Amino acid sequence: MISTIKGDITGLDFDMIVNAANAHFARGGGVCGAIFAKAGPELDAFCAKLPKGKAGDVRISPAFGLPSKAILHAVGPIYEGTKENAQALAGCYWNCVAMAYQYKREHDLERLSLAFPCISTGIYGYPHEAACDIAVRTIRKIRSAFPDTKSIDIIFVCYEQIDYELYKKALKEL
Ligand code: ADP
Repeated sequence: MISTIKGDITGLDFDMIVNAANAHFARGGGVCGAIFAKAGPELDAFCAKLPKGKAGDVRISPAFGLPSKAILHAVGPIYEGTKENAQALAGCYWNCVAMAYQYKREHDLERLSLAFPCISTGIYGYPHEAACDIAVRTIRKIRSAFPDTKSIDIIFVCYEQIDYELYKKALKEL
């Protein structure tokens, strides 16, 4: 199932949530700040030990004070309008599903819910519509290339009304 809801990604009980991370995997603003605040200082300590990444990279951490099983930290691109930005944003979604699938297998889970924020569309400036298009297309692509990943339920959690409208429309067209 692929769905969208409007709300705060830290407020619901998803198996895994994705953080719109920076390349240092450090506490930041926006959704990143909200996730770190609710997860607690253990998350800062854990992430401080992670090797620095580049746009498109994803690292996993425990969820600490959050109800989820784990957090996937995806480094979104800082928008400059390049092809590389689009590839990196697609890479975030692709790599998160791949890592969630690996986790699901390792833990012998039947299904897993994976919640995404609208990566890069806040402080990093990615245009909402283009980012939504990449997110939805990438999820469709990985599900069609690897049908077993359909056992992962995808939820696009939109904090802003504009994103919620875009995702509702994009998912209706699926
Ligand atoms: P980035 O640096 O990747 O742009 P931001 O956190 O600034 O990250 O923004 C990414 C998206 O997350 C934006 O659409 C923003 O509205 C949204 N957002 C901010 N806070 C939350 C939250 N608590 N839950 C879900 N989404 C959020």
